[in-house]
Amino acid sequence: MSGPITATDAEPDAAGPGRPEGPTVELVPSRAASVGGVDVRRALPRRQRRTIGAWCFADHFGPVAPDGPGGRMEVGPHPHTGLQTVTWLVEGEVVHTDSLGSEQSIRPGQLNLMTAGRGVAHAEQTPASYRGVLHGIQLWIAQPDITRDRAPDFAHHAELPDADYGSCRATVLIGELGGVRSPSHFEMGILGVELATAAPTDLILPVDAAFEHGLIVLAGGVALAGETVGPGVLAYLGRGRDELALDISGGSRVLLLGGPPFTEDLLMWWNFVARTRGEIEHAWNEWEGGTARFGRVASDLPRIPAPRPSWLPTT
Ligand code: MN
Repeated sequence: MSGPITATDAEPDAAGPGRPEGPTVELVPSRAASVGGVDVRRALPRRQRRTIGAWCFADHFGPVAPDGPGGRMEVGPHPHTGLQTVTWLVEGEVVHTDSLGSEQSIRPGQLNLMTAGRGVAHAEQTPASYRGVLHGIQLWIAQPDITRDRAPDFAHHAELPDADYGSCRATVLIGELGGVRSPSHFEMGILGVELATAAPTDLILPVDAAFEHGLIVLAGGVALAGETVGPGVLAYLGRGRDELALDISGGSRVLLLGGPPFTEDLLMWWNFVARTRGEIEHAWNEWEGGTARFGRVASDLPRIPAPRPSWLPTT
């Protein structure tokens, strides 16, 4: 999906409570937004909490019925820079098409990971033939300086490793949990795990104390440290835990995100992740000018124009 970051989300972390040194449980309500005709709960970035590790964007969409309002998603060609997009579905099907020539359908349990680097463009839509419910999440990972100017890339992982914790299945999308490692390579610490359980479960997960962590509930609920969290609320957990004790309701799907605090400058505008306003203005100009930087996407959907950066004088 596209992630139109606006001034509402673009304000600096300084507006928030800062970054605690130790464990915490901080509940941050998600913001309602709409992307490609689908209502989303935007868990990141929020004024109170812009990032968890390098995770800098999270839109939870659905479940929506295909015939109702917002039942189909159609996001036309749009560019990205300096980030990786992670698409993960609970239900439904989405077709990804990008300027690298990739055309890839994704289904629940599979991972689409697109690396923008210096620039890429893509389109995403539910296929016309699909008649089921759409439910999932799109996340962005900010690329560090050592990789963000590299060439773009796209990877599809049809199968991912998992491990059982009691009756809960932990699927490792990104990074490593308890010795189970995702096939995706990262040049920095980062963690993304889906916890799925049919029955209520108490579990203890081994986690890295140098990482900060957060939970996004896609379905059901989770209790920790006396707080109960459901969909539409980000639980930020801070750093300094080497294990995480969770009490998960039956029928739940919970995403655990983590990583060392991202300390590089981060400026997000619309679908661009950068360091400076100059970089954003350059990317905006190049997308609007149709230069070769972002390539071409083979899609019938209309190309999405980039909004003028809000800090530029109006002409
Ligand atoms: Mn996108």
